[in-house]
Amino acid sequence: MESGSELIVGIDLGTTNSLVAISDALGPRVIPDEHGRRLVPSVVRFDDGHAVVGNEAKSTSLDFPNTTVNSVKRLMGRSAEDARDDLKFLSYRVAPGERGTARIVLPRKGGGERLVSPEEVSAEILRSLVRVARRVLGRAPAKAVITVPAYFDDAQRQATRTAGRLAGLDVVRLVPEPTAAALAYGIGLPRAGVKPGPRNVVVYDLGGGTFDVSVLRLTPDEGGEPFFFQVLSVGGDSHLGGDDIDHLLVDVMRREIAAQLGLDADRTLELPPQARRQLVSLAESLKVRLSSEQAAAAHIDLGDDRVYERTLTREELERLITPLVDRTIECCRRAMAAAERALGGEPISAVVLVGGVTRTPLVRRRVAEFFGMEPYTALDPDEVVALGAAVQAQILSGSRRDALLLDVIPLSLGIETAGGAVAKVIIRNSTVPARATEMFSTQADGQSSIRLTVYQGEREMAEHCRKLGEFHLRDIPPMPAGVPQVEVAFLVDANGVLNVSAHERRSGKRAGLQVVPNHGLSPEEVERIERDSLTHAREDMTRHRVVDLVANSRLDLKWIGERLERHRGVLEPAYAAELDAAIVALRAQIEQAQHDWTSVNPEEFARAKDALDRASVRLQEVSISASLRENPAL
Ligand code: AMP
Repeated sequence: MESGSELIVGIDLGTTNSLVAISDALGPRVIPDEHGRRLVPSVVRFDDGHAVVGNEAKSTSLDFPNTTVNSVKRLMGRSAEDARDDLKFLSYRVAPGERGTARIVLPRKGGGERLVSPEEVSAEILRSLVRVARRVLGRAPAKAVITVPAYFDDAQRQATRTAGRLAGLDVVRLVPEPTAAALAYGIGLPRAGVKPGPRNVVVYDLGGGTFDVSVLRLTPDEGGEPFFFQVLSVGGDSHLGGDDIDHLLVDVMRREIAAQLGLDADRTLELPPQARRQLVSLAESLKVRLSSEQAAAAHIDLGDDRVYERTLTREELERLITPLVDRTIECCRRAMAAAERALGGEPISAVVLVGGVTRTPLVRRRVAEFFGMEPYTALDPDEVVALGAAVQAQILSGSRRDALLLDVIPLSLGIETAGGAVAKVIIRNSTVPARATEMFSTQADGQSSIRLTVYQGEREMAEHCRKLGEFHLRDIPPMPAGVPQVEVAFLVDANGVLNVSAHERRSGKRAGLQVVPNHGLSPEEVERIERDSLTHAREDMTRHRVVDLVANSRLDLKWIGERLERHRGVLEPAYAAELDAAIVALRAQIEQAQHDWTSVNPEEFARAKDALDRASVRLQEVSISASLRENPAL
């Protein structure tokens, strides 16, 4: 983002929210405001003389419907006539200005009105992003890359440039939003050593109010630019998004409340605007919760000791929104058909998800099903466009972004095991793409859920590694400890995106996680981590060994103890005593390790474990023949 005195930021100037991001040696990241908020609502309120932007304007929008301007992006570069279909969604008045262009009509306090252009409104949003950036970067950025929808025509692009200029920004490039999304994942960027071939990428963008799908081709270029992006086809629906899901839920609740109040269920219950607004925000929160939970409860006080209570399940939500998701898939089908000739039979190599609604599990499943591949979800779907704009800004400012895209994995990737050690699944310096699997099991009888925590680093203990994320494999049917077979697969693809999936073989249960391990890692940090691992190598290995010995010995003690109690009556007393002694010796090792692992001699510990394992062979035989007698059919 910076070369000499040049500072270029990436800006996603969105219909509902806007963001500013930068990219440097640490990779791209969104710049938060002083309260840590990363999204600035694209809402501007015009008080006489000055503009209020973002959260404050949004939260007071109901009180000032005529002077609060939202969704101004829908008016950019359009005539009042063109924008007619959108007007019913806007709370403010729009009138034709010069040459019929759309102007926003704002009432003045003292009477009369004034007209402002969509460019001026967008400029207020951009100014507010510049302030956010200045606070963190120490100076105001003078240049920006701004993203625009792929379908924006010349007039709409020109209007976006004008907005930038009004905000004092030199707009060095307008980048199509889907192109930015692909760039954020590094798709199509050349990496040290290898030149990628042309790639075809689909970007599925389902936001609050609009759905866009684009098919792109990325071609590595020999010229000045490291890549060449071409939009092969676009499709979508300018009035389809998360808001429609909220409205479906509001309708369900409104009908049920009407029924509960004894009103005709088919007649619509007219709600005062404030109550309707509350119902919409309740609906939105239910929708968001159901992306991570199986059920979510609503509780509304209807007055006179009446309460509306409702638990909504994910399944119910999925049934409700299936027609909406179907419509997006139909748009995908049409966009693919439109790109067919240009694709010339070449396959799609990646699908990228953008927009808050793509966190919905049903959306992810349906997209995966339609395109026959897992979509990219590792980056925050609300941020991915701004991050890509920042990557483009970094390239334009002359920093070598491609140097960051390595063809080897700089740090090992692994999973935390019992006791806090890390089992490395992919070893550092493996070339990308890389794939490896590892088997895991449960620690307790009847354990129905396993937490899988993914780490990056060279040290042996989780506490010394960098945590990348965690997920749960749930609904494992009850089985004794150690019996479930969980295959954990790590796949780092050509763009450095890590997919971790866990699969319990008997029940078929699956779960997974996607992250970009190198985000936020500087080359210096990689070096430091390597150095640390060398310094601590011996100590770390010992500790890892002790931790594994403790975990495995516990499982041994558990099953040997259970069988010993069951069959003690038929064992020769001398043999039982030998087992008892071996158990006591191993328990002592475990206790000592827990008290202070450095005081344990791992060789001695391993010998104690071996001694018990060897001694238990006879017990195992006794146990098997007893089961055969009890169950001759075996
Ligand atoms: P965007 O316009 O991309 O910011 O998307 C905003 C939309 O995403 C709104 O309708 C949000 O309610 C919706 N959204 C945000 N988070 C989630 C989530 N976890 N699950 C489902 N929808 C979400």
